[in-house]
Amino acid sequence: MEGTGLLPTSIVMPDLKINPERLHADFVELAHIGATPEGGINRLALSANDIHARAWFADKVESAGLAVRDDDAGNLSGVLYSAEPGAKTLLLGSHLDSVPNGGQYDGSVGILCALECLRTLREADLDLPINVEVIDFTDDEGCWKSLFGCRALTGALAQEDLSAINYGEGSFRAALMQVGIDPRAIWRASRAPQSICGYLEVHIEQGPRLHREGVNIGVVSGIVGRTTHRVTFFGQAGHSGTTDMYKRRDALRGAALFIVRAHDLVRERYGDGIFNCGDVTVEPGMFNVIPSKACLTVEYRHVSEKLMAEMETAITSLAHQCAATYGLAVETEEIAHMPAASLAAGMIQLLEGVCDDLDLSHKRLVSYSGHAPQILADFTDTGMIFIPSVNGISHHPDEYTDWPDVVNGANVLLQAILRLAHRN
Ligand SMILES: [Zn+2]
Repeated sequence: MEGTGLLPTSIVMPDLKINPERLHADFVELAHIGATPEGGINRLALSANDIHARAWFADKVESAGLAVRDDDAGNLSGVLYSAEPGAKTLLLGSHLDSVPNGGQYDGSVGILCALECLRTLREADLDLPINVEVIDFTDDEGCWKSLFGCRALTGALAQEDLSAINYGEGSFRAALMQVGIDPRAIWRASRAPQSICGYLEVHIEQGPRLHREGVNIGVVSGIVGRTTHRVTFFGQAGHSGTTDMYKRRDALRGAALFIVRAHDLVRERYGDGIFNCGDVTVEPGMFNVIPSKACLTVEYRHVSEKLMAEMETAITSLAHQCAATYGLAVETEEIAHMPAASLAAGMIQLLEGVCDDLDLSHKRLVSYSGHAPQILADFTDTGMIFIPSVNGISHHPDEYTDWPDVVNGANVLLQAILRLAHRN
């Protein structure tokens, strides 16, 4: 470590390592909570399984001699407090919730690696000048409201954000109240930025790059922005048999042309961009009636806000061209936008330095999936550590990461904590 002459040597511990067996035992126990027959996980936010996992986590925190902390948005933490009064807090986060039948690694490894780091630090009996807090964010996966818990922590949630959100039969407000979260008190979960000295998260890549290239660690440089649009094509209903094949105004035909051409456009002109259409509804929705209306929900992702805006404009103009081809009308409407985020340059360099010292190969990566750092990047110095996902599979029971890769992620996190403790 550089420049240690004036710093307390008690927290320079380049050889300190986490306990891989203890971390693995935790992983196995946690994977049983909400386990599905296919080998996946069902821990939808605020569900009984999510609450069960959180109770398990709180027990682990307590039995490790750490303090349990929770807030008015239901975020649940374990804290290793510094003896220094007024110490700032380094947050280490991720999530215990999952998508339906999701994988065992997504979110869980981030929480477990952080918990294991705190236990290791406590056992080493270091006088850290900062508090270190592992935090499980409520509804990170967006079963109700994407990245709900970390939005609340940064004070970025408004009461309107809780309205008109439903999942199945239930409303978000009712689901919050059922687990003891008062929707009117969520604002109290916000923290003062000056009380926080940074945020770090270990997460599986959820993509194939690290695994394919045999790289140990991905240092995340940025997270893509996401925009969701509703694109509705309007044509004219008619008898499927008797209407002239050359004179029909089929809304679905225009929509289909649009989907194919939008994919081509993004692939040809925006190499790093993403287009997806995963939701189509057709009216009147009868096999023997020409569709009069086709409503698509489409999503764009790009790490550059400028190119994202260009891509949106190009795709909207494409929708108009496709509609005109078949004599249709089209309307487009933005329904959500999450800006792209750049992670802190200082954190990127720090993580790369840790990897070098641990002899781990590393590579800077853009994240194509949304994560808490996207919200936290504007709030505090934020860094993110990716570990390889075998074949890039995620949000699926086959999600898998080789155990030594999880251990590497935890050890990078541990050394990053020690370096940040030096700085503060
Ligand atoms: Zn995740």
